[in-house]
Amino acid sequence: MIHKITLMPSDALLIVDIQNDFLTGGALGISGSNEIIPTLLNYVRRFQTHGLPIFLSRDWHPPDHCSFQSQGGPWPAHCVAGSPGSLPPSSFTTPPSAVIIYKAMDRNQEAYSAFQHTALDRHLRILNVRRLFIGGLATDYCVLNSVKDARTLGYDVCLLMDGIKAVNLQAESSLRAEAEMIHLGTVPVQWEMLET
Ligand SMILES: [Zn+2]
Repeated sequence: MIHKITLMPSDALLIVDIQNDFLTGGALGISGSNEIIPTLLNYVRRFQTHGLPIFLSRDWHPPDHCSFQSQGGPWPAHCVAGSPGSLPPSSFTTPPSAVIIYKAMDRNQEAYSAFQHTALDRHLRILNVRRLFIGGLATDYCVLNSVKDARTLGYDVCLLMDGIKAVNLQAESSLRAEAEMIHLGTVPVQWEMLET
């Protein structure tokens, strides 16, 4: 028997960093990342149908961000604010009411979490959100850190297992990240578990 999940008025959806640079062919393209887009769009439409809030985070760096290899950081340049790589693909059609959360805009500071130096927590509190459904990219960095902050801030979290992909610089880093999030009380969910 599949455990079912009923959406409630205190639920919200957070989709992390669906941006061209993290997709196939992008500056930091994550293997298999394009496959999760149709599933994420299913979640978007379901939350929209229920009139529930939808948040989309975007990595949004200055051209000399400290995380770039040119500045001594670990990553190739990616998601430079406003560049084609920083935008979502045209297939990722989201409602105009979705709130975009820009992060990691300070050149001197890395910010993997969608909560770090953003207004996300304030938005959620104003809307009386208690439970966050989180998916997107990448499982082992921005999703992991967003989930950790959400749990620290007291939100219940459902992790969209069919809507995440990992960078996996080290083998099994996605499994480790998933295990860590579940250890923190995150509930793993699949699309089929959502009641209509
Ligand atoms: Zn980044």
